[in-house]
Amino acid sequence: MADVKIITDILKCPNCGCPDTVNRAAAAPYKEDGRIPKDAYVAHSVTNKMIVPPTKVSLSVPTLFIYMDICLDCGILYATRAEQRDVPIKYQMAGGGGPPRGAGFG
Ligand SMILES: [Zn+2]
Repeated sequence: MADVKIITDILKCPNCGCPDTVNRAAAAPYKEDGRIPKDAYVAHSVTNKMIVPPTKVSLSVPTLFIYMDICLDCGILYATRAEQRDVPIKYQMAGGGGPPRGAGFG
């Protein structure tokens, strides 16, 4: 994967301070048995948007990715990570977003 710049990692629920999320809890046994890589970033959903419009010829565009997950304790949905990546233009144009993503795993 190209350069990934993590802008912020939010390590605890902003409402109750719980560090665990529903998707991390669900993925934990599969990380243990090796079906999910141990270092895979797990989230409920991820959205992305171009930070800079592709106004000139370039191969990629800086894109912001926001990961969301659900607090395991109080149940609120909150942003767990923001990161920036350069995404190839062909992916931005073809899908209206970033590259295809599987099941909320970053
Ligand atoms: Zn919470």
